[in-house]
Amino acid sequence: MPDCLFCSIVEGEIPADIVYENEHVLAFKDINPQAPYHALVIPRQHVATVADLETDGMMDELTRAANILARQEGIVEDGYRLVVNCNENGGQAVYHLHMHILGGRAMKWPPG
Ligand code: AMP
Repeated sequence: MPDCLFCSIVEGEIPADIVYENEHVLAFKDINPQAPYHALVIPRQHVATVADLETDGMMDELTRAANILARQEGIVEDGYRLVVNCNENGGQAVYHLHMHILGGRAMKWPPG
């Protein structure tokens, strides 16, 4: 998708600190971390929001990658948070589907 920041990362046109990849997804460190560990897992294929997903298993792929990262980081036992923001009220800033994985500190609830 032209002018999509995360598509540019997938294409290698913009650098990112890549922490995991497979044929379906790419994961990289968030540029503005909100926790000691903060990474984003994205589909390689452009999907604007979670609301645009068909039932093709992509959320399973994102979750599977996030769980691999959580195990790699050793944050499973203490706990972590997976977040998908959707559209304006959901706080989505980048319109290429992404799952945040946040860990390394206690999270608050409810979110702001
Ligand atoms: P959201 O508000 O859910 O759309 O989150 C977008 C996230 O993308 C934010 O946490 C940003 O810090 C992050 N972000 C924006 N640009 C980059 C980038 N070039 N590399 C890594 N993370 C980014």
